Amino acid sequence: MKLYEKYPVSLTNSLSGKKEVFEPLNAPFVGVYSCGPTVYSEVHLGNLRTFTAFDVVYRYLSFIDYKVRYVRNITDAGHLTNDAGQGVDRIEESAKLESLEPMEVVQKYTNSFHEVCELFNILPPSIEPTATGHIVEQIEMVNTILANGFAYVANGSVYFDVRKFMEKHTYGELSGRNIDELLEGTRDLERQDEKRNSVDFAIWKAVSPNHIQRWNSPWGLGIPGWHLECSVMSAKYLGRQFDIHGGGMDLKFPHHECEIAQSVGAYGKAPVRYWMHTNMLTVNGEKMSKSKGNSFLPKELFSGTHPLLDKSYSPMAVRFFMLQSHYSSTLDFSNEALSAAEKGYKKLSSSLTFIKSLNHPGTSTPDPSIHQTLEGLVESCYQNMSDDFNTATTLAVLFEMSSRINDFKSGNVPLSHVDPTVFDTFKNTYVGFMENVLGLKQESGVDDHLLEGTIKVLIELRKKARTDRNFALSDKIRDDLKAIGVQLKDGKDGEISYSIE
Ligand code: AMP
Ligand code: ZN
Repeated sequence: MKLYEKYPVSLTNSLSGKKEVFEPLNAPFVGVYSCGPTVYSEVHLGNLRTFTAFDVVYRYLSFIDYKVRYVRNITDAGHLTNDAGQGVDRIEESAKLESLEPMEVVQKYTNSFHEVCELFNILPPSIEPTATGHIVEQIEMVNTILANGFAYVANGSVYFDVRKFMEKHTYGELSGRNIDELLEGTRDLERQDEKRNSVDFAIWKAVSPNHIQRWNSPWGLGIPGWHLECSVMSAKYLGRQFDIHGGGMDLKFPHHECEIAQSVGAYGKAPVRYWMHTNMLTVNGEKMSKSKGNSFLPKELFSGTHPLLDKSYSPMAVRFFMLQSHYSSTLDFSNEALSAAEKGYKKLSSSLTFIKSLNHPGTSTPDPSIHQTLEGLVESCYQNMSDDFNTATTLAVLFEMSSRINDFKSGNVPLSHVDPTVFDTFKNTYVGFMENVLGLKQESGVDDHLLEGTIKVLIELRKKARTDRNFALSDKIRDDLKAIGVQLKDGKDGEISYSIE
């Protein structure tokens, strides 16, 4: 039996607003698409929250035996400052500001995005397609939409005709917008506009010959509309209908709504079966965004240089902070929350180091009550993750498991009371959920387990020096340890304990 059959996944489908049982079109294969970054600047912590959430979706679905194809695109053309296809081209703008070629801007920020993903242990997707690599396919899709009568050409641009589309199909279902009202309300305001209606959006945008990024098309020189690339690339790599499409909630309208309309307009069917949207990372209750000036860059967190930060935080502490809330809740940034996350991560990570080095000796006098506890915790890990990818409650289970690991460590629960198979399943589940599902890897640097072991070796050497009456050496060990912050205390019984300042 496959793990996904034993622990069926349910997820909140933004289309229905309800939690639904996840039934892939073609199990064991699962297609997941999530909107990637527009590579015109560094990604901030808000963006990373969304990328981390879908990284966990990808990791967990793979962990429970699905064969996942995860597509996350790179937007390297066509994203204007106004989502309806107007305004300044973000990549051209950065190219001018930084005196770089647009493709140099694209490369620079793609590289830095990849570096940040690696630091945060966000896995590379199965396919990372770019908009500029799919211009031919995008032109083809515009042609199909035009041929189906859902678009019109105006001055070399092609616009999706929302009113026409709504004669046959629905528009606005995902975001719950009342498009009729929008259509009515703005009719008179847009007389100057080449669009027939303000809700119409560009699927191909004409540009002047001095626009650096531009392509030839049947309608003249231009760039693809931003929404189009996701429709084209998801259909190309996952099929015209696929399982899961994700992104931040801020993309529901217009971006995802437009994606649906384009795909229905071209191929006649809804492209996505389950839409998943992450909630926003906020700062003092306000969405973190570059334009609001309240965003943190990952490197500012690691160096602690941002004025709102008390100190620096490691990538895994930050990842833990993100996973402590469910993806559909807002998550507010604060120093207190980050330092609590740092402590939590260290606790779980130290148990991880310990359990990885712990092997069952092979003999046992089984205690059924211990087995029940350990097996119950294993079950809980799967059940919580299968329940709408609840990383918050899964972490609570891992804390419980960490306490049980401490029982093994202290000898409270002798391993001889645990059946080797139960122990191995418990160990593999803890390690698997920490490292593979949640992506909480061990950070380099001295970990607690290693430190503890090293101090114990030095304590034994000091004891030996004392029995040999080598007081010079025994004092040196004590003084040198004190100099680096480790205080040894001699007990009456000759035992030596320590504390770290
Ligand atoms: P962009 O590069 O602006 O298209 O954003 C990339 C991804 O980050 C999108 O899925 C956005 O929805 C998401 N995003 C942007 N700001 C935030 C935020 N403050 N919290 C969570 N996700 C965000
Ligand atoms: Zn997209």
